[in-house]
Amino acid sequence: LRDKAEMASRLAAIGEMAAGIAHEINNPLTGVIGFSELLAAREDLPEDIMADLQVINHGSQRVVEIVRRLLTFARQNKPVKTRLNVHELIDNTLEFRSYVFKTANIEVIRKYDQNLPWITADPGQLQQVFLNLVINAEQAMRKAHDGGKLTITTTREDSFFSICIADDGPGMTPEVKAKIFQPFFTTKGPKDGTGLGLSLAMAIILDHHGTIEVESEYGRGTAFTINLPMDSPETEDWTVQQEGLTPKAG
Ligand code: ADP
Repeated sequence: LRDKAEMASRLAAIGEMAAGIAHEINNPLTGVIGFSELLAAREDLPEDIMADLQVINHGSQRVVEIVRRLLTFARQNKPVKTRLNVHELIDNTLEFRSYVFKTANIEVIRKYDQNLPWITADPGQLQQVFLNLVINAEQAMRKAHDGGKLTITTTREDSFFSICIADDGPGMTPEVKAKIFQPFFTTKGPKDGTGLGLSLAMAIILDHHGTIEVESEYGRGTAFTINLPMDSPETEDWTVQQEGLTPKAG
């Protein structure tokens, strides 16, 4: 990876550009969708024209989705930090995907170090990062075979809260691995990928003064490790944080 500061400023510049493009696209797109829906509501149209309209509509919906993701990427604000329980946040994220885990035959294994303290971070942004990593892992495992294992491990690494999200999917070639944090890099094709998930994750983690790294072996699996700074022991009340269930304000 390049120098962190350079990466962060490149991501910020791309974010601004993405926001500009998204707004430019939205205006004409609203017209296309509006008129194609008006046409589709007519009852005097031959079937082949209705079928063509469907193609226009599906295409436009796809553009809407890309613009939405671009905006999410671009609108990335400065983190609004609060004290939070990382394990609870990961559990919530996994809960969102429980239906997919069941249908795709994915076993989730949690190895949490329960002695770890709460940390100060933006819950919405961290959840976005976990979700992106978990969905990538799901998609990789579904592609490789029927089902798989998703292992989530938390540990203390010096003054960092370390979270590892590992899958036993197809892994990556060194060529792919070298590019995954670049905005718009995807191997999923234009229909399923935007290539923004990991660059967004990188931007968020850098904003939290943390690191995100990947280990991957082609044919064996992939593991992402996020390290987030823990508060210095002098400034926190360890007992209260660990017993509480909701983030303590301030
Ligand atoms: P997208 O998911 O839209 O492709 P991302 O930035 O999230 O964008 O990911 C970029 C690429 O990184 C993916 O297209 C895929 O090739 C690779 N990748 C990410 N996570 C994994 C994983 N768990 N296993 C294998 N490849 C992965």
